Amino acid sequence: MTVKTPEHKKAIKQGMLSNVMRQFDNAADIIGLNSNIRKILEVTNNELVVHFPVRMDNGEVEIFTGYRVQHNNALGPYKGGLRYHPTVDIDAARALAMWMTWKTSLAGLPYGGAKGGIQLDPTKYSNAELERITRRFTYALGDNIGPELDIPAPDVNTNPQTMAWILDTYMSTKSPAERSTNMHVVTGKPIGAGGSQGRDRATGYGVFLNIKFWAEHKKIDLKDKRFTVQGFGNVGYWAAYFLEKEGASMIAVQDAYGSIINEEGISVDDLLAYTKANKGSIMGFAGAETLDKANFFGLDCDICIPAALGNVITAANAPKIKAYLIAEGANGPTDVEAEEILLEKGVTILPDILCNSGGVIGSYFEWLQNRNGEIWQMDEVLEKLEKKLKESFTKVMETSAQRGIDMRTAAFIIAIERLEETYVQRGIFP
Ligand code: NAD
Repeated sequence: MTVKTPEHKKAIKQGMLSNVMRQFDNAADIIGLNSNIRKILEVTNNELVVHFPVRMDNGEVEIFTGYRVQHNNALGPYKGGLRYHPTVDIDAARALAMWMTWKTSLAGLPYGGAKGGIQLDPTKYSNAELERITRRFTYALGDNIGPELDIPAPDVNTNPQTMAWILDTYMSTKSPAERSTNMHVVTGKPIGAGGSQGRDRATGYGVFLNIKFWAEHKKIDLKDKRFTVQGFGNVGYWAAYFLEKEGASMIAVQDAYGSIINEEGISVDDLLAYTKANKGSIMGFAGAETLDKANFFGLDCDICIPAALGNVITAANAPKIKAYLIAEGANGPTDVEAEEILLEKGVTILPDILCNSGGVIGSYFEWLQNRNGEIWQMDEVLEKLEKKLKESFTKVMETSAQRGIDMRTAAFIIAIERLEETYVQRGIFP
């Protein structure tokens, strides 16, 4: 099945899929992408939908639906996260898989793009149920994932523990002699289960570095700058942590439960400690006041970091945005209409495929270590990460300046041109 069937086009009108396709079309038009290569890149290679039964704590069986979409593997094995959320469906997986292809290509990694997950609300299940759901999902995916084929990683509502369950289940289906050669079937694992130093913070640190590179380029001092964060999970927390260390001040946060504000600044680590004791929610934190959710994006601040879900900055709230920099920690947070409004207003958007690419680069380092039987230290990982991100950032800034285009379009052009070159050199089988 392709992403461009007529019934499909109807269904995607306002979704993330139409956004990623429009971003792709825009960049492909500018470079006059070879029409045959365009045909290949606008469809997904493989789409897997699995329905599987899991026994709940009360003895009843529930059926779950899981997805894995593999968009393109011209540059290497498919790579991308697994999300556990009620909004996960085939279109979301398609869109997120496509963004992964552009992200890995832009980062110069030997990977393609994939994404998947399970349509569920994890807050409704016990830890033991989530473990059984994850293990049965892994079993259902079977050999459609693999360390040299398709390598999942954490995303919304999945974490190192989820990856450890996947790893253990996948390895258990292999013969004893092959087990440890399969360690790199997932990345983002806990350190004790083959994870890498620094992978936990890689995405948020990368978001911070992109902000820092941009600020240096613009000769802006980050000290005392005011920022807001949507999503206080893995990405949002670490981005805020590093920005605070640089002297910036987090004035508002929004998560799935609500929004909070303190114009004097919210302590990032105090808030983390609070959420850990409060079932993950920021609401009720003593160091801030409750804010009306509708006012979050209109707050007076310098930097806004969407680090939760897609399509949250739209034509409805873009005109109200006062931040001059949007650093996309999330995938697809800004829709195409909103981006037009923001660019018109002079707002800079550090695009997702660049801004949150620290995560997949960190995953690549973990994969390399597992594959080579190596263990790298934290400073080595963070140093390598910074070097790679700086390269991508510089390329995007140069392309943007040379062509007089925004940073997202520049990032897409770099990503697409790398794939185009690969197809031209390799040709199409047979
Ligand atoms: P997470 O599960 O650790 O955190 C998600 C956060 O978003 C939570 O604080 C949650 O409460 C909040 N949230 C959920 N629904 C919300 C809503 N409707 N409104 C406001 N907040 C809401 O997830 P994560 O791993 O931090 O991922 C966040 C985003 O970053 C996703 O878009 C993901 O695709 C992207 N991303 C993650 C990584 C990674 O390494 N984890 C890498 C690249 C991109």
